[in-house]
Amino acid sequence: MNTNEILNIERNGIKYHVKSVIFADLEEFINAHPGYRPLSFDYEKQVAYVSSEIDNHRTLQVDFTCRMCCKSHSLNVIPYDYVVMRKQERKTVQECFPYMNREERESLISGMCPDCQRKIFSANYD
Ligand SMILES: [Zn+2]
Repeated sequence: MNTNEILNIERNGIKYHVKSVIFADLEEFINAHPGYRPLSFDYEKQVAYVSSEIDNHRTLQVDFTCRMCCKSHSLNVIPYDYVVMRKQERKTVQECFPYMNREERESLISGMCPDCQRKIFSANYD
């Protein structure tokens, strides 16, 4: 794994220390390093830049009610990503929140909580 290199990246006015991880190793890296999340992707080089500092900046809580079970849930996001990129600029969930896992992104897209997603899409989790 090519993860020794430490770089500085600025995203939406916040500076992060990141490591580069090739796409093929990303899932394994994230599983082995739970605090790390993707900050951005370089599709040409096929690398993701991951940082352990992202959760410190996820200070905005977005509440939603699951449309299946009607329970309240919340997601924490970086304020700029939600207020400006998502709501004003209408960018895709993938562009706005590269640090979210698949279930978190799907919650925003479908309005279904992770538990209900697992029930509905159980075939995908086998
Ligand atoms: Zn639900």
